Amino acid sequence: MISKPDQRQDSFEVHNPADGNLVGYVSRGTQDDVDDAIRISWEAFRSWSGTEPLDRSKILFFAARLVREDQKELSQLLTREQGKPIKESMNEIAGFARVLEYYASITGTLQGDYGFSKNYGHMMVVRQPLGVCAAIIPWNMPALIMGWKTGPVLAAGNTMVLKPSSTAPLTCIALAGHLYRAGLPESVLRIVTGSGGVVGQALARHPDIRSISFTGAVSTGIEVAGNAAQTLKKTVLELGGSDAMIVCKDADPEAAAKGAVSGRFFNCGQTCTSIKRVFVDSAICTPFVRRVRELAEALIIGDGLTGGVDMGPVHTGSQRENVHSLVQETVNNDQGTVLSGGYIPDTGALKGGNFYPPTILTNVDPDAPVMKEEVFGPVLPVSSFETVTEAIDLANSTRFGLGASIWTHDMRTISQATRDLDAGIVWVNQHLRIPPEVPFGGMKFSGLGRENGRYALLQYLEEKTILINP
Ligand code: NDP
Repeated sequence: MISKPDQRQDSFEVHNPADGNLVGYVSRGTQDDVDDAIRISWEAFRSWSGTEPLDRSKILFFAARLVREDQKELSQLLTREQGKPIKESMNEIAGFARVLEYYASITGTLQGDYGFSKNYGHMMVVRQPLGVCAAIIPWNMPALIMGWKTGPVLAAGNTMVLKPSSTAPLTCIALAGHLYRAGLPESVLRIVTGSGGVVGQALARHPDIRSISFTGAVSTGIEVAGNAAQTLKKTVLELGGSDAMIVCKDADPEAAAKGAVSGRFFNCGQTCTSIKRVFVDSAICTPFVRRVRELAEALIIGDGLTGGVDMGPVHTGSQRENVHSLVQETVNNDQGTVLSGGYIPDTGALKGGNFYPPTILTNVDPDAPVMKEEVFGPVLPVSSFETVTEAIDLANSTRFGLGASIWTHDMRTISQATRDLDAGIVWVNQHLRIPPEVPFGGMKFSGLGRENGRYALLQYLEEKTILINP
């Protein structure tokens, strides 16, 4: 897909992180484009919000079918602009379809409430859509996150203006095309591409946007929330995490080692719920780390379009610089040791892209920045613990609270950890798996509100109380 947009409009380029090649162009949206999109969406709101839930449901189901039919082509586009291996792109595109199917299956099911009182008469609560909602999408999982935001908004009868990330906007545009082909009026979902500082900020500030859902960096999320507060928008923020994995001495050692490698190096470590810190019982630390190293060093790194590749490049050069400097800082400050990886490849096929090898750091000081910050890249810092209570305290000792996992079969430990871990989602003997049916979101600096499940649908509906005195 290399076609220049409308020549009259300024545009910018999208590049492949595996080799720097041009993948396509998109328009550089302006404040006027945002104003136009919101006006068009409000005009569409009256008719879309009045459609029968079943009709909205049919469009979402049909769109999911069209997406599944084009899964391969969409996945190739996603890999070319984002960098992830084709097998992960295939799963992500299927995930987008699954989210649409889920919301199609619950459209119209959130009914209101009714009561009768001698004093007040008929007491009814109806749930109505909000109006025009905005979404700001990041580059790490653009298709899935687009599904999480568009699915509930459209199912609830709202219209939407969506801003994709500037470095991976093309899959979002293509997916919107599938929704239009399934019968969604183009006025119901408007995509405005352009920079966060212009288009994103304009959406957050606009008085005619009723709700905004943002996924990205903490600092950006705080700015979005501040702007949204000026016009009292409902706000959902998904701001990433520093997920801990706690491996107890009774854990299945092979399952835990495989879980650590897939949970950290999936999507080149660029997932909000990637495993970002591992705490292992000191009794099993040495064999655990040895097995993790074997598995990590067996991963095939390369251009995601090449069959068999397990891990692609980091999405941008500056992102790779951030990751590498955190690794170097850890070593230079004597806060950990590099067991594997930890360098920028400068030879062979990996030289031309933003590649970084799977990196394992051991004996890491739990207070090191590489343990405290969200490291968005393939770096796995490991530390050991003596007691489960200590491990839970370490897991909780960051400003984030998105996800955490505990690997054990001991019921007492499971109940202690699931109660005490400060995280929006706690996994037991698994990590990084998020079905569309259950809420997803974080505590503390990981965000506000929840996506997925019926909870997300509620976010995009507003209660109205009606009292009828007969
Ligand atoms: P950003 O928060 O800058 O970008 C996310 C989205 O917000 C993009 O669409 C971006 O647009 C937009 N945006 C940027 N500035 C504004 C603004 N002022 N107002 C409204 N929207 C804005 O994240 P980065 O891409 O710079 O990544 C930086 C770090 O953020 C990563 O290293 C990672 O730690 C974290 N991150 C976390 C994610 C998660 O899933 N939780 C996802 C992505 C990043 P544009 O692309 O045009 O800049």
